[in-house]
Amino acid sequence: MTQTLPMESVAPRAGELLHKVFGFSGFRAQQEDIIAHLVEGGDALVLMPTGGGKSLCYQIPAILREGTAVVVSPLIALMQDQVNALLQSGVRAAALNSSLTAGEGRQVEDATRAGALDLLYLAPERLLQPRTLELLDQSPVALFAIDEAHCVSQWGHDFRPEYLGLAELATRFPQVPRIALTATADAPTRREIRARLALEDARVFVSGFDRPNIRYQVKPKDNARKQLLAFLEREHPGDAGIVYCLSRRSVDETAKWLQERSLTALPYHAGMADVERRRHQERFIAEEGVIMVATIAFGMGIDKPNVRFVAHLDLPKSIEAYYQETGRAGRDGLPADAWMVYGLADVIRLRQMLETSEADEQHKRRERSKLEAMLGYCELTTCRRQVLLAHFDDVLETPCGNCDTCLQPVDSWDGTEAAQKALSCVYRTGQRFGVNYLIDVLLGKSNERMHRFGHDTISTFGIGAELAQQQWRSVFRQLVARGLLGVDMEGHGGLHLTSSSRGALRGETTLWLRKDLAPEKRRRVKAERAQALTSEDDASLWEILRAHRLELATTQGVPPYVIFHDSTLLEMTRTVPTSIEAMASINGIGQVKLERYGDSFLDLLRAHAASA
Ligand code: ADP
Ligand code: ZN
Repeated sequence: MTQTLPMESVAPRAGELLHKVFGFSGFRAQQEDIIAHLVEGGDALVLMPTGGGKSLCYQIPAILREGTAVVVSPLIALMQDQVNALLQSGVRAAALNSSLTAGEGRQVEDATRAGALDLLYLAPERLLQPRTLELLDQSPVALFAIDEAHCVSQWGHDFRPEYLGLAELATRFPQVPRIALTATADAPTRREIRARLALEDARVFVSGFDRPNIRYQVKPKDNARKQLLAFLEREHPGDAGIVYCLSRRSVDETAKWLQERSLTALPYHAGMADVERRRHQERFIAEEGVIMVATIAFGMGIDKPNVRFVAHLDLPKSIEAYYQETGRAGRDGLPADAWMVYGLADVIRLRQMLETSEADEQHKRRERSKLEAMLGYCELTTCRRQVLLAHFDDVLETPCGNCDTCLQPVDSWDGTEAAQKALSCVYRTGQRFGVNYLIDVLLGKSNERMHRFGHDTISTFGIGAELAQQQWRSVFRQLVARGLLGVDMEGHGGLHLTSSSRGALRGETTLWLRKDLAPEKRRRVKAERAQALTSEDDASLWEILRAHRLELATTQGVPPYVIFHDSTLLEMTRTVPTSIEAMASINGIGQVKLERYGDSFLDLLRAHAASA
């Protein structure tokens, strides 16, 4: 059933497919090695960042090896997109899922049995049904590709029990090579994937985790929605992107608020009716410039390459989650933004969620250290990318120059004394009051309640006049973020000392705090925008090409990026090819697409060149 090719013959054939079918000039980092390994029948675990080019690693072997490659993918809703994209390039692909009629399903099954498909996409539960397994017993199977392999990890944030059953493939189809792929996997998750998918002997390919085109920014939160609007208007007019909120309610409200300001924003969360949620997802994929306001229920498997920004209005629970969510921006390699606002209330809320969580002690400890890492990331005064990558054991030698702390260096200040005052104020007031109250005490702003408690006469009353309210909030935020203050479990936001507070309370160690930039200052600094189109590009030509692409896409009922990616249109805008040969050398235009679309785009380019 399987076929083994000698190593030498793989490389040229793979390169030819890359060029002819996919229209790319060269392989990226590890793609070539992975492809050769798989074609020769080896198993592989591939860790590659989002947008790194994982799909080609199994799509090319799928064509090169005899039989059908079975691709396991968690979301039925998105399979069709991947299939459409392959069909556009002339690759024989199909999906087998519940959206097909019985007749259509049988057709796909017959094609599989006949070896007439290069790729077959399936959800794990469908794959593991006896009927499907029997089908595969009778069919030539080229390989198994298990996408989003971290879904098998129980402690991960995307656990899908159906994935556990996939270990069976190893015993049932021992001769078929398997490749598991994921964009998020710290060392423990990696071990779990190998163990649970019976991939202990698989070769592991780890690519660098860096996404150099993504600009990371974390801003102190003052009015999240207004900050978001300003960011969208200033940096991403007309762009598609995702805005993540924690709760369904804030998703609905934020989407509505943006709509009232004439933006095309759509809500998406698990509390909506299926049809509506689906419609919103389809619009996000099919149209240009839709802003999806969503809970984390949205995003996995979304391959839309031109998501220009991912904005977080609430803090993710871990760096893994943050990296994965932000990773949905800029898959096409063009500039993109990962933008987040973060404030004291977020820290308090997350700490509280942990304290009240019902999980067992071990799980809690793990959650806590994840949160610790996330908070530490927010409070950084050094390059964010360096810390982000270090989290995945990846080393970036020099600061990146493309994150907010690199672009606008942040000062730190000696907060030892301020911390002492804040902590002792917590202590003197009985370790049960919230931040606003504590700051009033420090600033010496008495009110009736404070008077009743007698806190306007204690030693810490009015000792903090040297800092403004906003600065005190920043101090408290950092103390909570560092675990020097704990949050009560009742949910009133009362703060108390922790076992780590003592040293700071006595001023034994110097405490360096982040000096948050004042809002005015933030507004004045203008960094260059992280947009695809720069001011030198011919915006009118770009719009002409985009409009034509949209027309082609709409006629065929496929998303625009399935016709051509933005990066391909941008290259056309910049090089203005006027012959079919010049057109063929543009990245992302393979033979089939050249035949289908080459002429109509050439007409537009020639007309534009003539009128210029
Ligand atoms: P992943 O699944 O790792 O997130 P994809 O497989 O979707 O990434 O690839 C991301 C983008 O990079 C796609 O637009 C894809 O066409 C493009 N790409 C992949 N490999 C290459 C290559 N060798 N040359 C140029 N573009 C590539
Ligand atoms: Zn940096």
